[in-house]
Amino acid sequence: MRFSQLFTKTSKNVPADETAKNAKLLIQAGFVHKEMAGVYTFLPLGLKVLNNIANIVREEIDAIGGQEVLMPALQLKAHYETTGRWSDEVVDDWFKTKLVNGTELGLGFSHEEDLTPLIKNFITSYKDLPIAVYQVQTKFRNELRSKSGLMRGREFLMKDMYSFALTQAQHDEFYLKSQAAYTNVFKRLGIGESTFMTFASGGSFSKYSHEYQTLSAAGEDTLYLSRAKGIAINKEVYTDEVLAELGIERASLEEVKGIEVGNIFSLSTKFSEPFKLTTNDEMGEPMTIIMGCYGIGISRLMGTIAELLSDDKGLIWPENIAPAKVYLARLGDSPEVVKQADELYNRLTTANISVLYDDRNARPGQKFADADLMGIPQRVVVSDKTVQTQTYELKARTSQEATNVSLEDLLKTLGD
Ligand code: ATP
Ligand code: MG
Repeated sequence: MRFSQLFTKTSKNVPADETAKNAKLLIQAGFVHKEMAGVYTFLPLGLKVLNNIANIVREEIDAIGGQEVLMPALQLKAHYETTGRWSDEVVDDWFKTKLVNGTELGLGFSHEEDLTPLIKNFITSYKDLPIAVYQVQTKFRNELRSKSGLMRGREFLMKDMYSFALTQAQHDEFYLKSQAAYTNVFKRLGIGESTFMTFASGGSFSKYSHEYQTLSAAGEDTLYLSRAKGIAINKEVYTDEVLAELGIERASLEEVKGIEVGNIFSLSTKFSEPFKLTTNDEMGEPMTIIMGCYGIGISRLMGTIAELLSDDKGLIWPENIAPAKVYLARLGDSPEVVKQADELYNRLTTANISVLYDDRNARPGQKFADADLMGIPQRVVVSDKTVQTQTYELKARTSQEATNVSLEDLLKTLGD
């Protein structure tokens, strides 16, 4: 990636109505563009981050046997009438639309009603179970307020997975695996230490659901956190009875704010019952399939990470989701400097180390500020001075000091 060829630019300005820190930083860095409240375009560098996050989620979900599909956003009214969720009184954040002939359609806020009848086509025996199907797909929700930047979109990217099991034991086994996968995801995204499994309302079909909450003052949920146990309780289910059941003393809890980055639910037969998703067990007895659903807010995660991992200079991406690993700043344009910077760019690229090469005609101060704002983990400078001393100047985004290193050491450090 050559900066001179990127159509996006960094900027000092943000839209006047943008109050969320994550969106301000991402807009200034040229990662996203605000279309309207809760609706953002992902620009080239932002899209790389979004895809990197999604791919980490995919790897962890594939590892527990999830099978990826991509379902449409347009949804059949009849499916939602089957479960009683077409009504705006039941679901208050529907976006709906119509075909030219007047047929009403929904824009998916979730996909239980589409996947459950789809799965019916493929389950012919208990031997087909268990299965888990997921997608990374755009959801539409007519949120009342959307002032938290990427953390509350009206159109946003979610990973949603649905599991189908013959027995409760089979369901529980997968549910536990999903918890482990979620823990891995948040760890790999660099927010493992501030993200806690949280007991939350389970709806009418199970006692609790499990949310994954990332601690942040910008969070909208109130939680009671037990650091000792590494779990939290959402205020919505915080009662003496729940405390007793979880074996937690009230006095040991901290009241904190959290951002819900994920939520997993046992659905029992809430959706399989109305759609008559059944199969026969080994004894030939008809069984209604037991379902679970498992969400992760992919774009909300990007906002959350921007919110948490940043300083007064800008973003600080963990290496595995950064849009590039190295920001190569070429200072000046003397032939030797250009030659050496071009050579290093080619060398790193050939070694599969992703580089954002700042080959613009810009002042050093501008290049350093942009490197910091964009949050690229490593910055390398090639200048007249480094050419003279036959070194490269290397600085991590998170350290104050730059060091001068040989080409060999540079490649070794960046290759790790
Ligand atoms: P919230 O309580 O924040 O509105 P929710 O409980 O309605 O979220 P779920 O239906 O559980 O959300 O969706 C699964 C995941 O999708 C959430 O855990 C969250 O990470 C993400 N998500 C939900 N709503 C939004 C939104 N408006 N914008 C971005 N991500 C969202
Ligand atoms: Mg939720």
